[in-house]
Amino acid sequence: MRTQRQVVDYSLQKRAVLRELLAGRVGTYDVCDASPYLKNAARFHGEPTDRRCPICRSENLTLVHYIYGDELKQSAGQARTLTELPVLAMTLREFQVFVVEVCLGCDWNHLVEQYLLGRDGLAGDNDGAGEQDVAAEGAGRRRREAQR
Ligand SMILES: [Zn+2]
Repeated sequence: MRTQRQVVDYSLQKRAVLRELLAGRVGTYDVCDASPYLKNAARFHGEPTDRRCPICRSENLTLVHYIYGDELKQSAGQARTLTELPVLAMTLREFQVFVVEVCLGCDWNHLVEQYLLGRDGLAGDNDGAGEQDVAAEGAGRRRREAQR
């Protein structure tokens, strides 16, 4: 997505969890604990993938995108389909997306990544240009006020 930024990848943490599981230090009941809310979100807003679940290896994983941010008001914390995100990214300045992978077969779930979306990211090529404009405008206004 064009305005995607500050991406945090959680694949290392996920591999660590899977290692712990293989080593028998955690049980599947510890990691396969998707809540009914998460599973509903996966069913209704989830993005199907062709990647097999690392635990049961019988179902494909579904990605759920949760959105957070002050501008979202009562929608904060809700799941959105992947196709809804670019629309939101063009109407809002900034919001956080958390991507969670879920297996609807065995309830495995893990945070995949998080990132920011929103119009603020469009200034990426000339970083901070927007803020400079505002600062220049403020300085101009102050000068005009001083002349009065
Ligand atoms: Zn599974």
